[in-house]
Amino acid sequence: MLVDTLEKLSNASGVAGREEEVRSLMKKFLKPCVDDIREDKLGNIIGMRKGEKDAPKVMLAAHMDEIGLLVKTISKKGFLQFTKIGGIDDRILLAQKVIVYTEKGPLHGIIGSKPPHIQKEEERKKVITYDELFIDVGAENLEEAKKMGVKIGDPVGFDIKFTKVGKNVIIGKAFDDRVGCAVMVEAMKRLEKTKCTIYAVGTVQEEVGLRGATTAAFGIYPDVGIALDVTVAGDVRGVKEVEAPMKLRKGPAIQVADAGLITHPKVLRLLVDAAEENKIPYQLETGFPGLTDAARISLTREGVPCGVISVPTRYIHSPASLLSLEDAEKAVKLAVAAIQKFPKYF
Ligand SMILES: [Zn+2]
Repeated sequence: MLVDTLEKLSNASGVAGREEEVRSLMKKFLKPCVDDIREDKLGNIIGMRKGEKDAPKVMLAAHMDEIGLLVKTISKKGFLQFTKIGGIDDRILLAQKVIVYTEKGPLHGIIGSKPPHIQKEEERKKVITYDELFIDVGAENLEEAKKMGVKIGDPVGFDIKFTKVGKNVIIGKAFDDRVGCAVMVEAMKRLEKTKCTIYAVGTVQEEVGLRGATTAAFGIYPDVGIALDVTVAGDVRGVKEVEAPMKLRKGPAIQVADAGLITHPKVLRLLVDAAEENKIPYQLETGFPGLTDAARISLTREGVPCGVISVPTRYIHSPASLLSLEDAEKAVKLAVAAIQKFPKYF
């Protein structure tokens, strides 16, 4: 089931560059539905389902990595200063529970700062930037922190557990882009015989510059690429419709253009046709300031027509985000319907 797959993927750790745990889950999930599965040199996991000769090669991409932190220095008193990996707003860091992934195992900690009681009036009004914050893992001093296993460069993730809240609504960590990973796995499971050869790729290091997709696409050189990702659901207080028009419970978003891709007209037509023929609700999105793996896949070698299917998600790039399982379920249906149509369009 989609929800179980997503729960496992969301609870797993995978700060960019350290995607091992997510990768091993993806390998396990994809293996029964592909003919071949391999890991490339950068760490992308590539499942391949063989199709008919001369039918198009389709690359699906969902990134396995998440935003997080890295231990930068350890103070004499045993506090960990850190650097950020991926786009994180400093305002959301303070007082977060985190997990430091050391070679000796995970350590729980909290992001601390000078307590408000002893802050001056002006101090209380300004954002405390990440370089003024620190992680407290309960170590007495530098020696004890080291003994506990902390090393410079250890990845740090947010300590958030997957939770069901409203009707078909869930809260969890790293839905950007574990929901894309879960949608890809489910689509591969449900896919009946197809003419195309499908490459289902869990990519690494998307959050730091779409790096995994770049090398995976070079190796595969697909005829068409589809990124499965999230987009900002702006249907919350304080956001104007024109700023972020995608909404929860209105179906997956089909990108027309974002900061790194103008969807190839044939791919856009195919995705819209697939949605309409199968009565899958969808939202067309343009002007999203973010990027997806499709931006890089499209620039591979002589170029690859690409598109994006995204699940509207609230509060992305913060420790916890929220989405509707119905939107994710419809994204699976759209991906499956689209895959069946590729031989007709390409
Ligand atoms: Zn993403």
